[in-house]
This record gives sequence, C-alpha cells and structure tokens, in this order.
Amino acid sequence: MKLGTLLIHNGHDTDPATGALGTPVYQTSTFDRGPEFDLSGGPPPAAGRLDYEYSRSGNPTRKALEDAAALLEGGSSAYAFSSGIAAIASTLGIFAAGDHIISAEDIYGGSYRVLNTYFKRWGLEHTALSVVNPDTIRAAIRPATKALFMETPSNPLLKITDLRASCAAAQEAGLITIVDNTFMTPFLQRPLELGADIVVHSATKFLGGHSDVIAGIAVTKTPELGKRVYAVLNGFGAVLGPWDCFLVLRGIKTLQVRIEAQQKTASLIADFLSRHPNVEAVYYPGMAERAQREIHEAQAAGPGAVLSFKTKTVDQALSFLGKTRLAVPAVSLGGVETIASYPVKMSHASIPPVERERLGISKSLIRISAGLEDAGDLIADFDSALNCAATT
Ligand SMILES: *Cc1c(COP(=O)(O)O)cnc(C)c1O
Repeated sequence: MKLGTLLIHNGHDTDPATGALGTPVYQTSTFDRGPEFDLSGGPPPAAGRLDYEYSRSGNPTRKALEDAAALLEGGSSAYAFSSGIAAIASTLGIFAAGDHIISAEDIYGGSYRVLNTYFKRWGLEHTALSVVNPDTIRAAIRPATKALFMETPSNPLLKITDLRASCAAAQEAGLITIVDNTFMTPFLQRPLELGADIVVHSATKFLGGHSDVIAGIAVTKTPELGKRVYAVLNGFGAVLGPWDCFLVLRGIKTLQVRIEAQQKTASLIADFLSRHPNVEAVYYPGMAERAQREIHEAQAAGPGAVLSFKTKTVDQALSFLGKTRLAVPAVSLGGVETIASYPVKMSHASIPPVERERLGISKSLIRISAGLEDAGDLIADFDSALNCAATT
C-alpha cells in the first residue's frame, strides 16, 4: 500500500471493541491487574484484553500513535515523547559517559544545546561539523565515537546532507545514525530506507500539523535499538499523554493532503520571492544550486513547505515582519497557518552575533513555513509587505 493509504488505514483505524473510527482516548494512569490474582480458577480475562499496567510504561492511545509512526517511517518500533526535544534527548540517553557523538553544527538549536550543556555535564562528548560528508565524518571518528546525528534540510538555511553517503560512512565505523526528519516528514523522506538507524521527529510540526500540541517521536530500525530507547522512555518518563497522542494521530490522517498543498504554496512563494527586487537570496531545496538539489531529489520526494529568504536590507526584513497580515510572526513551523520566523531573534537568538554571521544567519533572514491559506492571497500579502518596505 502507498503511504497515503497507510496514513488512514494503519492498523488502528477501527476500534476492535466498538467499531469506532476515532481512536479512543484512554485517559487513565493505571490498569486493573485483578485477573492476575484470581486464584479461584474463575473465568480467564476477556479474550483480546490488552496487557497494560501503568500509562508511563504503555497506554493504548499512545500505542496507536507509536504503531502508526513505525509504519510510516518503516521502522520496527516507535515511541511517543512529551516534545520533540524530549524524543531527541531520550534517544541520546541510550549513550553513556565517555561516548562521543558527531553532528552537524546547524542541527536544531535545542538539540545543539542539550548536547553542549546537559549531556556535556554527564560526560557525553560532542563534535559539531560545519559540513557533513563521508570525508568529514571519517576524519571526526574517534575510538569512542558511537553515533552520527543529522538533519536535512537544515534550519534555517535549508542545506542538504547526503543521507545515503553519510549513513554508509557511519556504518563502516559501526556508528548508530540518528536523523531528525521533522522538516520532511515520512511522506517526503524516509531515512531508515536510506541507511539510518533511528529517526526522530518534533511531531509538534507537520505530523500534528495544527499548531495545537507539543509532541515528539523516535522510530528505530531494529527491535534491539527499540528496547534501548524504550528503557529511557520508561525510565526517564518524558511520555506523551493520551489526549496529545490522539491529536497527533488525528493530524497524521491528513498529512499527505496538507504537505502536498503546503509544498505547492511554498514553491510558488519561493518563485515569487526569487524575482522580487527587494529579495537578496532565497533558500529552498527546490531552488538550491544543482549539486545540492540533485542530492535532495535523490533522497526526498519533494522540496517541502519551509523556505527562507534574505531581504536586501535589514529594514526591509523588519518591515516585512511588521506589515504582513497573513504570515504570523512566530516560532515553529508545519502548521496550517503560514508562519514567518525571524531566526536572529527567535531560534538562533542565543548564538553570539559573530558566530551567527559565520553561519549565514543575518538580520535580514526570514524563514517561512507555508500554511494552507490560498497561495495567491499569500503572495499578494507578501508583495505588499515587501513593497511597503521599499518606500519606508
Ligand atoms: C521544533 C523542532 C525540534 C524540537 O521539537 P519540540 O517539539 O519543540 O520540542 C527538533 N527538531 C526540529 C528540526 C524542530 O524543528
């Protein structure tokens, strides 16, 4: 079956007890274990009764989401966490003091922070590469290196990393490869099929899709890695609540139509911006230089719904953010509403200015997550917000 079908019919599409199409929200902390203690030889527990004990360890609504996520990413097991960063930090929690992790320097700011503050204090070593390719990976590997952590396209400049080649280089050295697939979603990119071992998501973004829930997911290729991640999930306890699991499951049902529509709008916006006189540069996988675009097209089914652009002057960027009436100036992405983020004041505010400039994150840079509004309305709004900027 195609992914679009699996988004709807994923094994939890009908409740076995009632036939309900909506996944029941099992809003419970604990489960009746009485039948285990029935020594009278009374009737056995009802056939089909599921084996749950306590909702931190497992909950049927969470299981429905976890099974759907494993199916979509093509993994053997998946776990749902209370946020994307909880999924990432809990996955990194499978490593030990003295282990060494390699990542790109432009991974999600929160991932960089948890590696360089929290895990550093616990003795996990970290090297951040400015470019991730087989040569830089091999050069950074030490005897203690255990994992490679990647994200493609990157944020906010949408740089592309070759997943197949990087995973292969990591695998030669026996590393575990972890890919943050938040920007692409399994509908556009499936890292486990390209050689990765674990995929992590901020389900807050496209999977949830409606800017109404904070959630994270980790999917592992093998059951063995699944057991290691589960031990942290259950032991550390950053689990996703049943109601939030329901919201993400509900979001996943419309993932295909949302991402297709939002991606189409993002392409139209990128094209419009690239021809606008006040725009200096547009960053979008569909418009990247040829070598980058070819790598992206070989590993992903589309350019996605996130793009960034630089205006010619800082005033033009500030004026755009103040004057757009349809794009919400906010952090986050992947929702049905178009969002305009300003990385220097939001996601990358904690990076020293000199370092930010080196990374290409300037005060004229704006990131757009295209929503489900009419593309023509968005472009007309952006045009007037940018043109105002020309005259002020
Ligand atoms: C938002 C985001 C995260 C963090 O997820 P939260 O749900 O906010 O904790 C991680 N990675 C990427 C790429 C993100 O965009």
